[in-house]
Order: sequence, then structure tokens, then C-alpha cells
Amino acid sequence: MTELLTVSDLAVSFGEVRAVRGVSFGVAEATTLAIVGESGSGKSLSSLAVLGLLPAQAQVTAGSIHWDGRDLRACGADELRQLRGTDIAMIFQDPLSALNPSLTVGYQIGEMFRRRRGLGRDEARRRAIEAMTEVGIPDAARRAGSYPHEFSGGMRQRVMIAMALALDPRLLIADEPTTALDVTVQAQILRLLRKRQRDGLAMIIISHDLGVVARTAQSVVVMYAGRAVESGPVADLYTVPAHPYTLGLMAASPSARDAGRRPQPIDGYPPDGAALPTGCAFHPRCPFARQRCRTEDPELRTVAPGRTSACHFAEEVLSRGGAVGHPRA
Ligand code: SF4
Ligand code: MG
Repeated sequence: MTELLTVSDLAVSFGEVRAVRGVSFGVAEATTLAIVGESGSGKSLSSLAVLGLLPAQAQVTAGSIHWDGRDLRACGADELRQLRGTDIAMIFQDPLSALNPSLTVGYQIGEMFRRRRGLGRDEARRRAIEAMTEVGIPDAARRAGSYPHEFSGGMRQRVMIAMALALDPRLLIADEPTTALDVTVQAQILRLLRKRQRDGLAMIIISHDLGVVARTAQSVVVMYAGRAVESGPVADLYTVPAHPYTLGLMAASPSARDAGRRPQPIDGYPPDGAALPTGCAFHPRCPFARQRCRTEDPELRTVAPGRTSACHFAEEVLSRGGAVGHPRA
């Protein structure tokens, strides 16, 4: 399968902090990649880097980003803006900051059709209402005349999803797309995203929720302290994780509660990027840690077909054979 987006050895510095350190991932048409990790792991920065949307203090310091054969690091701001408006769409974590408070929601969605598709006013309005209906906004024709502050958080998130999908992008990058939504709406949005995926849409879902990931993605990259610590097909990784951090995330997953098991949070906190632990950055929290882990930073290496892990003892973790179980179970 040809990849639409290929990111290799990406490094991002945020001031003095090396916030993303040598991360690689890719996504092909009609597939979904999930980037998983706690907040501060570098997952949002990695995707913002792809879009040329890094905050002012952050910059890409190494690596390559290719989109459909084009080198995005060599593209100017105008080219990237053009790409974001058509081929690549993003759903941000904070929908309120991405909407204009002084324009009605229907106008803002319609504006995209007017500007990018050259549609007339009435047709743009019709398409805006259609897009709102598709994401489950009830009484969309009336709600199109409301302002962002008149929507609940969950409704605003749906508006953002409607806007992101409106122009039929080839890639959708969604940062915690369903976190603000209740379970029913979340299921509805995930169904819609899966349908779009079947029609050819490529997606990158950024999430800390392994349940959401299991229901949408085919492959996963797990990030910790700015690095990829494990990657592989969803089904394999969920059945038998190859990194202690992934094991920990699964035990901490809220979906595990459904199985009658209490979620077990991972002890301790993610490290401060400016003061990373020596050796393996996960060692202060790792139940598998040994002396070697305190001094030697493990390489990300292939540990099984299609699977990588950055753990000295990945084989031992693998041999536990899914003792934690599937977060969907
Ligand atoms: Fe744990 Fe050591 Fe593996 Fe790091 S290298 S995840 S500390 S066992
Ligand atoms: Mg984030």
C-alpha cells in the first residue's frame, strides 16, 4: 500500500526542550493510524509539525515529511495553507478557539464552500446544513443561524468535525476528536469517520483513549517522552503489547472498567522534557526496569513482523501473552 503521508525521524524542539525525538509514521488511503500517549508525549506537536502549524517557539529540527510525493518541509507557508484547506484537514482539541465567535456557524461552514468551491450563497448554505446534519446536529437548518457560544461543547466539536469533512479532504488529522462527546454521540461520530475511511479517507487519530483507537485505527504508534516506544497493527498490539508503557496504558484504559476490572493508573508522572531520566525515559515508572535501563537508552527495533518496541526486554514483555487483555473486551 502506498503511503499518502510519510514522516521519518521527525524531531521538534520547543525552546530548549527536545519535544519530539526521531519519530516515524505513515498513513495510506482508506486507513487510520492512531498516535497514542499521555499529554506531553509529543503526539500533538508531531501532527502540528506535519501541517506547518507549530507554535512560534517550536521548530522542526530534523527528519522528513512527505505528502503524496511532495516534501512538505520544503513548502512555503502559502503552499501549506493551500494544502490544509483542501487535501489535509484537522480537528483541533479546542473547538472554541478555532471558530469565529462573531459569525454564525452556518455562515462559517458555508464560507468554506463559497471560498474553496466557488458555490453561490444559497447552495453553500444548503451544503452547510447537509454537513451539520451528517454529524448529528439536530434541526440543522435552524441551528445554522446560531453563534458558536450558543452551542454546547459537544455540539461545537461536531461543528468542527463537519467543517473538517466538508471539503472531502484526503487526510484528516483529529486530535482527541471525541473526548468532549458523550458515549452515544461518540459512537455516531466514530461510525461517520469509519464510513469516510471506507470511501478512501486517510486518518490520523491522536488520542489517549485506547477504546477509541481500537474502534477506528488499523495501526498504532505509542509515544512516550517525545519518542515512539512501540508501533504495530492494532489487533496485535492490543492482544500482546511489546512495551511496558503500552501494558500500563491498557491497564489504565477507562474501557477496561467495562470488563469489571478497575483501571490501574500508571504510577508516577510523565517526565519533564527539559530533564529526561537517563537511559530509558520510562524507567522510573517501569515495573520491568533493571540496572541496564538506567544507563542505556533502548533503540526502537523490530521485535516481531510489523512490530517495533523501544524496550531492552521487549521479548519478555511479549511473552507475557496479553495478560492485561483487550481494552475493548
Ligand atoms: Fe522498562 Fe527497561 Fe524496557 Fe525501559 S527498557 S521500558 S525501563 S524494561
Ligand atoms: Mg495534546
